[in-house]
Amino acid sequence: MRIIFTPEAETDLRAHARAEYPHECCGALLGLEEGDTRIVQQIIRLANERINDRERRFYLSPQQVLMAERRARELGLLLLGFYHSHPDHPAVPSEYDREHALPYYSYPILSVRHGEPAELRSWRLKEDRSGYVEETIQRQ
Ligand SMILES: [Zn+2]
Repeated sequence: MRIIFTPEAETDLRAHARAEYPHECCGALLGLEEGDTRIVQQIIRLANERINDRERRFYLSPQQVLMAERRARELGLLLLGFYHSHPDHPAVPSEYDREHALPYYSYPILSVRHGEPAELRSWRLKEDRSGYVEETIQRQ
C-alpha cells in the first residue's frame, strides 16, 4: 500500500501540526485512489474536539467527518483518511488511536519535536482491527 502526498498537501499538514503544537492537530485527507495507491491532493484542517488531554489525544465528531465527506464529494475526490500529530512522540499509533480507528482509511501521523514537524508515517488498520499495516509514503 502506497500513499502519495502532493507537496501542497504535505506542506499544509506540517504547517497545521506546527500551529497546534503542543496540542495534537487533526484533519482529513482528500484525493484519489488507483489500485492500492492513494494520492492525497489536499487536506482539510479539522478541530481537535477533545476537551482535555489534547496534547496526547484527538477527537473528531461525526459532524466533522460528514462535513469532510461532503467537501470531498463536491470536489469530485474521495475521503481517504485522517491525519493527526504526535507532539514529542513517535509517529506510531497509540492504543487510543487503534480503538478509535476504522478499517479502510489511511491514518498518517506526524511527529512534532519541540515544535518542529519531523517524521511522517502512515497507517491502515487491519480489517480485524488487530493492528496496522504501514503504508509507504511517496512524494510527488
Ligand atoms: Zn495518535
